[in-house]
Amino acid sequence: MTYALVLHGGAGARPGTDYTTQKADLTRLIIAGQEKLRARQSALDVVVWAVEALEASGLYVAGKGSAPNSTGGFELDASLMHGPQRRAGAVAAIEGIKSPIRAARAVLEDGHHVMLAGLGAQNAAKASGLSEITDPLAYYTEHLSHGSADSANHGTVGAVALDLHGELAAGTSTGGTFGKRAGRVGDTPIIGAGTWADETVAVSCTGLGEAFMRTASAYDVSARMRYANTPLQSASRQVLDEVARFGGDGGLIAIDAKGSISMPYNSHVMKRAAVSSTLAPVVRVFEPEP
Ligand code: ASP
Repeated sequence: MTYALVLHGGAGARPGTDYTTQKADLTRLIIAGQEKLRARQSALDVVVWAVEALEASGLYVAGKGSAPNSTGGFELDASLMHGPQRRAGAVAAIEGIKSPIRAARAVLEDGHHVMLAGLGAQNAAKASGLSEITDPLAYYTEHLSHGSADSANHGTVGAVALDLHGELAAGTSTGGTFGKRAGRVGDTPIIGAGTWADETVAVSCTGLGEAFMRTASAYDVSARMRYANTPLQSASRQVLDEVARFGGDGGLIAIDAKGSISMPYNSHVMKRAAVSSTLAPVVRVFEPEP
């Protein structure tokens, strides 16, 4: 049986910046994630675990590393999808909760709705017992060291996995784009735009959310594979070409049901890590895909 795991820390990075810490973090996580998949843990559990760890690290523009919006608030987005039954959960513009991906999982597990936004999302997360943030300005300190308004430095996080039971899952979490307006929601919590998982492929996107929403990009990878029999690598590339056609840059990570991996980007770089039953762990930031 095959397993595979791919992580991303966003498609924004400045040439000349030292990403040693992020690479070390991705290396640690991809190795620990591999152990979990080898131990037969589910793709859904491993995706949530990985995204929560990326959020908590403060090294990316998600969770603790999130940057404030134009009015100084911290509104975060996340979504999660499990391939087999297409169960999905998402939170948009959520405030005051440490792990948006955990909040998305609570929505998925509850099963009544797919997406909750704003105060309703926050209250549901609180009711599930998730950790709260009492003092946002004291908690979200990391964005200062990212260089506040540098849009080239954005860094959504995401994970996709195939487990030994043959199931796919995908999750994505973000603080959004720098300087976004209050109430702005990007692609990350939109099932089919920022995140998708079905029986064919699991996808997590990063980049200019508005372009990914206009192209339904995560779902489009699956559609191209299922309707046109396009292989994973070509389907992913074609989707990014569409994103570019609508003015967007960024990247995506994807795994298909056979355990093939794709992690293309049309931005300068994408922080990423991958492993599978046939691939030793790889961690890359600036190095292009072979
Ligand atoms: N896609 C995210 C958004 O538009 C940003 C990013 O991936 O960096 O909110």
